[in-house]
Amino acid sequence: MHEILIATGNAGKLREYRDLLGELPIQLLSLHDVGLADMQVDETGHTFTANAMLKARAYALASGKATIADDSGLCVDALDGAPGVLSARYAGADATDAQRRAHLLDALRDVAESQRSARFVCVIALVDPMDGMAQTVEGVCEGHIALAESDGGHGFGYDALFVPSGYDATFADLDGAAKHSLSHRGAAARALLPLLRGRIGA
Ligand code: IMP
Repeated sequence: MHEILIATGNAGKLREYRDLLGELPIQLLSLHDVGLADMQVDETGHTFTANAMLKARAYALASGKATIADDSGLCVDALDGAPGVLSARYAGADATDAQRRAHLLDALRDVAESQRSARFVCVIALVDPMDGMAQTVEGVCEGHIALAESDGGHGFGYDALFVPSGYDATFADLDGAAKHSLSHRGAAARALLPLLRGRIGA
C-alpha cells in the first residue's frame, strides 16, 4: 500500500482531502499518524505557491514520506486581494474562524453586494523525499462575500460567508460533495489525482 502524508493541522481541510483523494489506493496519513501533530511551519512566503511548497518540503523532510500540503485563502477584490495568504491570521494569530468571519464582514460593511466579488484559491504542493520530486497544482473558485453569515452548518473557515458564482447559497449551505464539485480545493485535488495515479501506476 502506498502512503501519503496530508500535512495539515486544519481538521476541515483533512476531512476534505479524505473525501477528495479517498478513491485512490493510497493510505492517507495525518500529521497525528506520523507523530508530527505539534510541528509548526512558519508561513513566511508571499504567495500561496511559496507557502504550500514550504510546508510540503518541511513535513516531507521530517516524516520521510511523500507529502502534500496546501496553502489556501480568500481574496476579496474590494480589499485589494486581502486577506489572501494571511487568511488564517486575519483578525490575529489566535482568532477563531467566527472572529475572522466577523472581521471580514466588518471590513466590508460599507461595500454593496454587487461590489463584494472574491475568490478562494488553493495551491497543493506534492513533495516526495525519496526522489526529490516537487510539484504544485492550483484551483480557484470565483464568488462573492454575502452580506451576512448563513447558518447552513457545513464546512469550516469562511464557508458561511462565501457564495460561489451561479449559486444563491454559501459553501456552508452545501454538503461536502456539492462543495467539492465547485471548490478551489476540489479543483486543485482533481488536478493532483493524475499526478498521484502516475506515481503509483494506478
Ligand atoms: P492556510 O491554508 O492553512 O494558511 O489557511 C487558510 C485560511 O483560509 C484558513 O483560515 C481557512 O479556514 C481558510 N480557508 C481555506 N480554504 C477554505 C475553505 O474551503 N473554506 C473556508 N475557509 C477556507
